[in-house]
Amino acid sequence: MDCLFCKIIGGEIPSTKVYEDDMLLAFRDINPQAPEHIVIVPKTHIRSANEINSDNVKYISAIWEKIPQIAADLGFAENGYRVINNCGHDGGQTVEHLHFHLLGGKTFTDF
Ligand code: 5GP
Ligand code: ZN
Repeated sequence: MDCLFCKIIGGEIPSTKVYEDDMLLAFRDINPQAPEHIVIVPKTHIRSANEINSDNVKYISAIWEKIPQIAADLGFAENGYRVINNCGHDGGQTVEHLHFHLLGGKTFTDF
């Protein structure tokens, strides 16, 4: 499958990993939009939020279980952070492998 994030998960394309377990991989975004910008992906190919179902929702649960820990490990949990999922064309999704953006290290004042 020609999927950028599957290739990053498989190690075919290098990334700066900040956390990994059997369910998910968290790595630094190549084009950060905040001082801390982490991309979190499930280790199974889910195309977008539209494809979350009762079989694969365990990956989403695992991701949300780890988000506070990843934020704490990187030192911005106390100050707070923003989590974003872009879904589909109108949502601005450019990589068709479900992912969450974890953004921290600044105060967001928009939206
Ligand atoms: P989207 O726009 O689909 O919500 O987010 C895709 C994100 O993946 C973007 O923030 C983009 O900077 C990031 N990205 C694209 N290609 C690469 C890559 O090769 N390595 C890393 N670490 N991030 C990437
Ligand atoms: Zn994929």
